[in-house]
Amino acid sequence: MDEMDILDEVRYLTCNVCARRCYLTATLGVGFGQAEAPGKGRKPGQTLMVSGNSCSNGVDYARSELLESRRIISSTVATTFPDVPRVRVTSQAGVPVDRLLEAMAALDEVTVTVRLRPGDLVVDDLLGLGVKVVVG
Ligand code: SF4
Repeated sequence: MDEMDILDEVRYLTCNVCARRCYLTATLGVGFGQAEAPGKGRKPGQTLMVSGNSCSNGVDYARSELLESRRIISSTVATTFPDVPRVRVTSQAGVPVDRLLEAMAALDEVTVTVRLRPGDLVVDDLLGLGVKVVVG
């Protein structure tokens, strides 16, 4: 058995960073990285391989979902336009799991007052986390 096969686990995800919604296959495993110093042996560590992504954001999405306690947020925010009273938005990076409710509450306070297109910025820095929220 190859060392990279140890404890491999395949997970299937739909990237929701943009409207394309790529279907991702993510393989989580425990591999062995480089030695920190000569003669010290190789260091066990977690590995992540992602396929099905059309851009590098898909890898970041899978890492955020599977290796970090962060989640991409998809929600809607209000607008001032009667013909489109709410618009779908997505965070461009993961929000810490313990701040998800706070993030959703912050989005509830947002009202879009200009016509926007997919990918346009709605929130520049959600909760001071450095996370952008865009239409999509
Ligand atoms: S992998 Fe890239 S193109 Fe595909 S849904 Fe995610 S952000 Fe969009």
